[in-house]
Amino acid sequence: MLSGKVAIVTGGATGIGRAIAAEYVEQGATVVICGRTESAGTATAEELGCEFRQCDVRAFDQVEALVEAVVDDHDRLDIMVNNAGIGSETSLDQMSLDEWENVVSTNLDGVMHGSKAALPHLLRTGGCIVNIESIYGLRGGKGAAAYSAAKGGVVNFTQQLAVDFAEDGVRVNGICPGFVRTPMTDDLLHEERFYEFIRAHTPMNRAADPEEIAPLAAFLASDGASYITGANIPVDGGWTAF
Ligand code: NDP
Repeated sequence: MLSGKVAIVTGGATGIGRAIAAEYVEQGATVVICGRTESAGTATAEELGCEFRQCDVRAFDQVEALVEAVVDDHDRLDIMVNNAGIGSETSLDQMSLDEWENVVSTNLDGVMHGSKAALPHLLRTGGCIVNIESIYGLRGGKGAAAYSAAKGGVVNFTQQLAVDFAEDGVRVNGICPGFVRTPMTDDLLHEERFYEFIRAHTPMNRAADPEEIAPLAAFLASDGASYITGANIPVDGGWTAF
C-alpha cells in the first residue's frame, strides 16, 4: 500500500504512466502527473482523482519547477516515476540528427532531469525512483538506434544512482516492458507483419496491457521492496528469456 506517500508520474496522462497513476491512487498515494498536453492531462487527472501539471521533461527548469510545486503543495515527495518517453523506429542510416537529439533528450535526459530534481526531496523522505525503461534497453531492437541507446543509458543510470544513494536510503529501480498496447504503439500493433514479429519473439505470444506493468511499479515503490535497489526488471512475456 502507498497510503501517505506523494508521487510524481511523468507522462501520466496516457498509456503505461496512466495505469501507474491509477494504481498508485488506488493504493492511497497522492499522485501528480505531468506531460506537455494540457487537455489530455487534465482529463486523466479528473478521471483518476489526481493532479496534472504541464511540464516538458526535456527542460530541466520545468522539471525542477514541477517538483518544487509538488513539494510546496504536499510538503514531501516519496516516489518519482520517470515514465515520459517517445518511440522511435528509425535505423541510424535513415535517422536525422534532430531525431536522435529529441529521442535522447526525452528518454534519457528526461530521466536524469526527473531524478536530479527529485533527489534532494527523496533524500529527506527515504523515497525512491522508478524508471520506465524497455527490453530495448537490455538488447537491440529492430531499427531503434536512438531509442535503444537512450533506454540502455537509463538502465545503467538506474544502477549507478542505486549504488550512489543506497547508503542514503534512496532506492532506484527500473522496469523493462516488452511491447505494450498504448498510444505509442497503436499504429505498430495494428500492422499485421509487426505484430507477427512481436508474437514470434514473445513466448507468451501477445503484447501486454498497461495494467500488467503498473503493479510492479507499485510494488517497487512500496515498503515491501525495501531491499530491492538497482534492479532493472523485465515485464515482457518472456521476450528477454527467449
Ligand atoms: P504513451 O505515448 O502512451 O505515453 C507517453 C507519455 O509521455 C504521454 O502522456 C506524453 O504526453 C508524455 N511525454 C512524451 N514526451 C514528453 C515530454 N517531453 N515531456 C513530458 N511528457 C512527455 O506511451 P507509453 O505509455 O507506451 O510509454 C510510456 C513509457 O514506457 C515510455 O518511456 C516508453 O518508452 C516506455 N515503454 C513503452 C513500451 C510500449 O510498448 N508501449 C515498451 C517499453 C517501454 P505528451 O505528449 O502530452 O507530453
